[in-house]
Order: sequence, then C-alpha cells, then structure tokens
Amino acid sequence: MDFGIKGKVALITASSKGIGRAVAESFAEEGCSIAICARNKDELIKTAAEIKKKFGTEPVWCVCDLNQAKDIETTVESVRKNFGKIDILVNNCGGPDPGYFQQLGDKNWQSAFEQVLLSVVRFCNLTVPDMILREWGRIINITSITVKQPLDNLMLSNSLRSGVVGFAKTLSNEVAKYNITVNNVAPGYTLTNRIYDLAVNKGKLVGKSHEEVLTEMAKEIPMNRLAGPEEIASAIVFLASKQAGYITGNTIQVDGGLIKGLY
Ligand code: NAD
Repeated sequence: MDFGIKGKVALITASSKGIGRAVAESFAEEGCSIAICARNKDELIKTAAEIKKKFGTEPVWCVCDLNQAKDIETTVESVRKNFGKIDILVNNCGGPDPGYFQQLGDKNWQSAFEQVLLSVVRFCNLTVPDMILREWGRIINITSITVKQPLDNLMLSNSLRSGVVGFAKTLSNEVAKYNITVNNVAPGYTLTNRIYDLAVNKGKLVGKSHEEVLTEMAKEIPMNRLAGPEEIASAIVFLASKQAGYITGNTIQVDGGLIKGLY
C-alpha cells in the first residue's frame, strides 16, 4: 500500500535505539527524510550510518536531552536547516524511573515531568505553528499501555503519560481544521533493551533468570509473545499516512491483547 508520505520529513525523538529507532527505520522505508535524536552522540552516529546503509537515506541526527529546553530548540532548528520543514513529529522518550508512591521524591517527579510531558509540549510548540501555515501535519506520541491500564511500581509513567493523552486530545481539537492529526500509540511489552533491563532487574529481585521473567510476561499476553519494535512502528506509520487523515485524538494500543478492558 502506498501511504502517501514519500518525501515528507519525519522527526522522531529518543530514537537511537528501541522503538524510536524502529519508527525511524519504518519512515525511511516509506521514502521519508528522517531526523533522529538522543543524548549519546556515538550511538546516534552508529544508528544514522546503519540506517543509511539499509535504506540509502541519510538521517539528520542531533544530540538532544529531552529534559533540556535548549536541546529541543537546537534539534528543531537543525532539522529545519537541513530539510526546510517538519511534517511528521513522533514524540518518544526514555522510560521514567520505576517506583512506588513512597519511593519517589520531587526530583523524580520533576525529571519525569520534563521528559515525558513537557518535552512533548515543547516539540509541539516549536513545530505546530509551521504545520498550521502549511495546513498539513501528523503528531504521534509514543506512550504505554499504562494510559489504559496502570501497572504496579510505575507511578511516574501511570501519572504523566495520561497527561500526554490529555494534551494530545486537547491539541487535536484545536488543530484538526488545519489538517493536522494528533494521536498516541500505546505499546505493550516490546522486545527492546529497556524491557530486557527490566527483566534482568525483576529477575534479581525474585530470584529468576531474565529469560524466565520474559516468558512469564509473554504468558500474560493473549498473543503469548512480546511485540517486535517494528510492530509498534507499523501503527505509527499508518497514523502518519494519507489514509489515516480522519483519525485524530485517538490512542491506539499495540499490545497483543494485553489490556483487559474494552477501551
Ligand atoms: P529503549 O531504552 O530501548 O530506548 C529509549 C531511547 O530513548 C533510546 O534511544 C535512548 O537513548 C533515548 N533516551 C532516553 N532518555 C533520553 C533523554 N533524556 N533524552 C533523549 N533521549 C533519551 O526504550 P524502548 O523500549 O524503545 O521504549 C521507548 C518508550 O516506550 C519509553 O518511554 C518506554 O517507557 C515506552 N514503552 C516501552 C515498552 C516496552 O516494552 N519496551 C512498553 C510500553 C512503553
């Protein structure tokens, strides 16, 4: 299927690894110009070179700590300087600290607020006005199943990602008339470094190997397996497509059936 986004410019944040990287690769495959960012320069250079080798397109890369307003400004400026515009903005971030209510202090909350919610607001502030002028845009936020079914020990994710969903729905109503859609994709358990690290940590706590922990996770899922990052990316590319032009203000879960509720 032709998704009608060849030649569009896609900026994917927090994209040197994992789901963000898979999203960047999927847009490259669709013939988009892509920009990636993360904190580690060496990882970005390596990822950009591998994407170029695989898809023949040279990603713009920017060192960006999502907790820093200045880095976000520099990133958007650099993408504009290289490609002239940003059509598709995919807001991803690193996972916030795990923890229960009594384990988390102001510092954890402040840092998670800046990375998970404020970075989305900042990137949108810098890109939406130009999308309005050009009367086309796609914004997709990567959240988590925690926005529909909160998980134990993930107080920060459970709280702040719902803020992203509220922001996205409100923004979607304001910009729909300019042909700009704003949606969220909520991944379930997905095979990336993050889930591997979480499995190693949990394994140490409960005296099991990370393989056993991952197998137990899979058993919770009707599909009986974790997602590949490219499966999350497919939903994101669809939401950016011409065909998805009437879908806005939505949160689409990609979770193999893990969420037990109806909505
Ligand atoms: P990952 O750890 O594999 O990749 C995270 C990416 O974010 C990396 O490129 C890293 O460099 C970058 N990053 C981290 N902190 C950053 C910061 N302060 N500034 C800029 N870049 C930063 O993680 P992932 O599994 O791909 O997860 C991506 C997002 O999806 C996370 O927010 C995660 O919580 C969420 N999520 C993941 C899963 C899962 O099972 N993997 C499930 C639900 C939600």
